[in-house]
Amino acid sequence: MAGVEDRPILFASVKKLAQWAQSGSLWPAQFGLACCAIEMMATAASRFDLSRFGAEVMRASPRQADVMIVAGRVSQKMAPIVRELYDQMPEPKWVIAMGACASVGGVFNNYAVVQGVDRVVPVDIYVPGCPPTPEGLLEAVMQLQKKIRMGGRPMAPVMPSPEEVAHA
Ligand code: SF4
Repeated sequence: MAGVEDRPILFASVKKLAQWAQSGSLWPAQFGLACCAIEMMATAASRFDLSRFGAEVMRASPRQADVMIVAGRVSQKMAPIVRELYDQMPEPKWVIAMGACASVGGVFNNYAVVQGVDRVVPVDIYVPGCPPTPEGLLEAVMQLQKKIRMGGRPMAPVMPSPEEVAHA
């Protein structure tokens, strides 16, 4: 008698299937803010091959993207634009803060640089390092996939107001 594993039937809820499909087809928004972006580009190149995780389709329009990789420091001037790009992305959407600068301001502890992009958009995964490595970004993508498969965000994140973003 054939074992359960031999039967060509799979039972899953529609929600679980949708989460599984979402986690395997992440489309990052294509933009970089500083030197971290070079590492992000390397992640998509042949040596590290981001496409192994189904996340190499960088979209030039935020309306076609569901992952924002904030690669580099966010200046005060850039913060409202980063927020606008995030707002233009359709739901569900996720954010990876790549590197020390995007995560906490890095070495730029001054008035011109936002001390962490989570003051502007809700961050799901932080990648440490200056520069962060392509391996670090790959790990972040895998962690994000795990998070999405487990249900992602249970409720809408608390978002700072545009006024707060302007003074982040
Ligand atoms: S974390 Fe380092 S590599 Fe990344 S933007 Fe800041 S200074 Fe550049």
